[in-house]
Amino acid sequence: MAYKFIDNYREKGARKQLVKLLEKRGIQDQRVLAAIGKVPRHYFFDETFWNQAYRDIAFPIGDGQTISQPYTVAYQSELLHVRSGDKILEIGTGSGYQTCVLLELGAEVFTIERQENLYNRTKMVLPYMGYHPHFHYGDGSKGIAASAPYDKIIVTAGAPLVPEIMLKQLKFGGLLVIPVGDEKEQKMVTILRVGENDFERIELDTFRFVPLVGDQAW
Ligand code: SAM
Repeated sequence: MAYKFIDNYREKGARKQLVKLLEKRGIQDQRVLAAIGKVPRHYFFDETFWNQAYRDIAFPIGDGQTISQPYTVAYQSELLHVRSGDKILEIGTGSGYQTCVLLELGAEVFTIERQENLYNRTKMVLPYMGYHPHFHYGDGSKGIAASAPYDKIIVTAGAPLVPEIMLKQLKFGGLLVIPVGDEKEQKMVTILRVGENDFERIELDTFRFVPLVGDQAW
């Protein structure tokens, strides 16, 4: 894929329209909307497809994976209640778009991807765009114990269950946002760690994610 990093008036205008659309669809957190308004989503697309970059749709990024739909990115980001300086683990880097939104919200982001091509691509492209998460390659279904505990964990692929090992990597008061279900559709689930073995679980709307594949997953 040939990348081009030019943010001209047409893309800036399309991005503003996307933010308005997300607000209309129910995203209320102004900080999340501002972050979406800052990240040039077309940078994740080949120039041929720039006209698709600000539609509210998921889009293929190669290796059978997708850049998430902007609404989904905004929805998960809103649920995370990101505060500046939060230490966040993101499982499923994909294109890195969600990663950039979390960085714009002021988080320190640890992100892990199991597909080598995608890992290599984001590791090259994101710093070039001025975004600097901690990149990891491997199976994120086990979390990343080495840099735990985290304030927040976000999973951007559909899991069959909530991996216990992930819950143990949350700080007390920490929050996990994870889509859980079968291969066709998942419920967005938030889990707040309130004590050593105490967790509060809330089940929200239905989404369709690519599967979380790994030791603690499909
Ligand atoms: N939020 C990303 C974006 O905006 O581009 C999209 C993520 S995509 C829907 C889900 C990603 O999770 C895919 O890139 C997939 O390879 C990755 N994935 C699936 N299972 C994983 C695992 N066990 N560990 C790390 N990444 C995984």
